[in-house]
Amino acid sequence: MNADPTVVDAPDGYPEGWQFDTVLKDGKTVRIRPIVANDGDGLQQLVRGMSNQSAYHRFFRVKHELSESELEYFTVLDYADRMAFVAIAAGELIGVGRYDRQREGTVAEVAFAVAEGHQGRGVASQLIQHLTNYARTQGIDQFSAYVLADNHSMMRVFRNAGFQMERSFEAGVYTVKFPTEESAERWEIETQRERRAVAASMMPIFYPHSVAVIGASRNPASIGGRLFRNLLKGEFTGPVFPINPKASVVRSVKAYKSVLDVPDSIDLAFISVPAEFVVGVAKECAEKGVKGLVVITAGFGETGAAGRVLEQELLDIVRSSGMRMVGPNCMGILNTDPVVSIDGQFGPISPPRGNVAMSSQSGALGIAILDYAKRLNIGISSFVSVGNKADVSGNDLLLFWEDDPSTDVILLYLESFGNPHRFSRLARRIARKKPIVVVKSGRSAAGARAASSHTGSLASSDTAVDALFRQAGVIRLDTLESMFDVTSLLANQPLPKGRRVGVLTNAGGPAILAVDALEAQGLDVVEFSDSLKESIQNILSPDASVTNPVDMIASAGPSQYAACLSLMLDSAEIDAVFVIFIPASSDGVVDTAQAIRNTADAYQGDKTILAVYMSSDGAPDELSGGTNKIPTYPFPEPAALALSKAVGYAEWREKDHGHVVEFDGVDRERARAIVDSGIARLMDTDGLWLEPAEVDGILDAYGISLPVSRVVTTADDAVSVWSQVGGPVVLKVVAPSALHKSDIGGVALDLDSESAVRDAYEAVTSVVADAEGVLVQEFVAGGHEVLIGMTDDPNFGPLIVFGLGGVFVELIGDVSFRIHPITSVDARDMIQEVKSARLLEGYRGGDPGDIPAVRDTLLRVSALVEDLPEIVEMDLNPVKVRLPGSGVSVVDARMRIRSVGDRWVPNRRDIPSEI
Ligand code: ADP
Ligand code: MG
Repeated sequence: MNADPTVVDAPDGYPEGWQFDTVLKDGKTVRIRPIVANDGDGLQQLVRGMSNQSAYHRFFRVKHELSESELEYFTVLDYADRMAFVAIAAGELIGVGRYDRQREGTVAEVAFAVAEGHQGRGVASQLIQHLTNYARTQGIDQFSAYVLADNHSMMRVFRNAGFQMERSFEAGVYTVKFPTEESAERWEIETQRERRAVAASMMPIFYPHSVAVIGASRNPASIGGRLFRNLLKGEFTGPVFPINPKASVVRSVKAYKSVLDVPDSIDLAFISVPAEFVVGVAKECAEKGVKGLVVITAGFGETGAAGRVLEQELLDIVRSSGMRMVGPNCMGILNTDPVVSIDGQFGPISPPRGNVAMSSQSGALGIAILDYAKRLNIGISSFVSVGNKADVSGNDLLLFWEDDPSTDVILLYLESFGNPHRFSRLARRIARKKPIVVVKSGRSAAGARAASSHTGSLASSDTAVDALFRQAGVIRLDTLESMFDVTSLLANQPLPKGRRVGVLTNAGGPAILAVDALEAQGLDVVEFSDSLKESIQNILSPDASVTNPVDMIASAGPSQYAACLSLMLDSAEIDAVFVIFIPASSDGVVDTAQAIRNTADAYQGDKTILAVYMSSDGAPDELSGGTNKIPTYPFPEPAALALSKAVGYAEWREKDHGHVVEFDGVDRERARAIVDSGIARLMDTDGLWLEPAEVDGILDAYGISLPVSRVVTTADDAVSVWSQVGGPVVLKVVAPSALHKSDIGGVALDLDSESAVRDAYEAVTSVVADAEGVLVQEFVAGGHEVLIGMTDDPNFGPLIVFGLGGVFVELIGDVSFRIHPITSVDARDMIQEVKSARLLEGYRGGDPGDIPAVRDTLLRVSALVEDLPEIVEMDLNPVKVRLPGSGVSVVDARMRIRSVGDRWVPNRRDIPSEI
């Protein structure tokens, strides 16, 4: 979170985490933060500027000047019973929203005021949102507001924010009451608002009316010079102003010394001047009213501490003036839409127009990517080199591309996730509409993370990461090459309707390779029906093989390709056709390519067609050129990979993803109180493991089944618990050092006599030096053992894991993962995916287990994680699964909590409006 330049000497209790830079309806940014005494002047200005009517819309009983004591009253708050957020834009205080707790304690009165010239921009909605979220953390569950009868805009703000309002009317004043609790409706409204606002904020970058190039050099080899040349060469549809203090003309265009000298308005400025001048230049842009910056210059956050400070300074200018910024340290942007036709990057290559949007974190790779795209004839809709992502992030771009009509496929080259929760949430939504293809470098980084629970260490395995991308609907690839292989299929062909593939070839060897590759990717090279075989036989020579693959042998020419391809395309037995062509001799090559192309062009259906054209010269244009392209690969393997990724994605899109289950009868307050008391004991940022009784309390609050258990400190008490249980018990040592109790002999099972309990008490307490007591627990005989866990992942946020207990988890890693929150369908699939979970079905005469109860427990764990963001790690290991109908019992559980700071984490999702 960046420091707010206007906050000096933040007072005690100032909730630091509650500063937000968000985007308003018109796409301009605004900062929302808690009020401080220093805001007095701004507040006075706000009040002075108000018309009678709005001033008295109940914020400050009718006044146009606040006295010293009133100013103090409004700005010096305890941030608990009295709280206010201000909205700051371009250094000006443009809105304030406050609440005052009522005597009752859980009810507060709220009021808002927005500066005259800034109404209708959504400032009040933002203030309400943050105020509501904050109030919830302070135990306030209801707001009441007084709204004058004629204050229609305020009523509209409340209504549009999605609150469940109660209204009453008396003496010209409405009393509006609403709960501060999150609701699905509010969430949906916030999501929509975010989407529109962020997309709008990106418009000056993608669709500027006029641009300036600051640092447009006359030297054609310089970066500024190259970028300026590309803009001219790309025939940007608006004016381009070169800014250069040392030249009056650059490439025949009149130059200016500063943006401030340019007579026209400027939407977008590219900055390519030495790092030490960037901040000054950005200030001038802010003054000029420029709406977007693309900062090419390097030497910021990527260089170390001093660079980070400079980057922060730059960002503060950008945010406080309502601009958006790409970079710094980037290679520029490009939008091929003919409406703008802006080529604002300094690389040598400008790719053709098409339906693929791309962003690259690495500048140098960006150049390579554009080059590759051009060579493979992959058309680009827009491209952004995001550089250090100080402001505009990959997530913002996803939001822009989500509704961008020019974009059908989104490619992201990522080195790091800025905000993993937000990425996985956005990706899951957007991938429903358009494929998102990601190459994420640094695969092993997650693996290096030390983890102190099973769940933590299992989650960082590579297979888990892959599974998680799949769950979010994201197509993840390891190499840029495969990224393009997959993209050319997705960008040019309909998504496969299923896994069945027909292979058509003029040579046997490559067909065998193709079948192997397809099957290895989980695709089905299906057996053809007799009637299909017969029809194919009728058009081929007797030597040809008419099974799948159809091998027409080397003599096959254009007419055989055309006829067989037609038959296969018209058949209902397959979903995709994989055409292999080996140019056996040079004659007929072009004709055959043309025949394949004509057949594909004439075809009206929805089968996916792809071609393998094995020739070092590459595929002829007849196949891969033009608009209606057939993706063409030099070898069968990349083609099979591309097809399988497309199939996997299509299946994901079709799939019923289920819904997040809400449970009745959950005692949230009890769980919250336990977590809060744990947080109060926190000594450091590493967090702490909760006590066994606390863990049980939380699980019990969420309706998760536990055996009877009690912590005792004497052998006598252990014996009395045993007699209360009335059956065999288990004793476990409770000690900070005993993380894995049975490994050190700290667990004694199945004890059913006084002497056994006494002996066990001695035994389990003697294995450690720091025994704090002994857990006496009902012994759960028989049953299967499963693991249910949770960990906070740097890429995805909270994950839920399931596996069978014992060796299955530890030795063979037979586990399944899902990004939190999980749905009913996820819970079912997670169990199904785990191979050893077949044991729960009563495999080979073994006892079956209560699978519905396991599903229920998974969903309850997910609900618990949703409500308690402080929990960062949890292992329920084992959960004993009894016979069908008899339920489960969690016999060992651990939870680690960590402070989430002052910052409210809304239901684990991310604050929707935050950039
Ligand atoms: P830890 O994981 O710290 O070693 P556990 O409490 O999981 O300790 O106990 C180890 C093993 O003992 C469990 O995996 C389970 O097989 C068995 N066990 C523990 N508690 C019970 C119980 N109440 N009923 C039956 N078996 C139990
Ligand atoms: Mg255990």
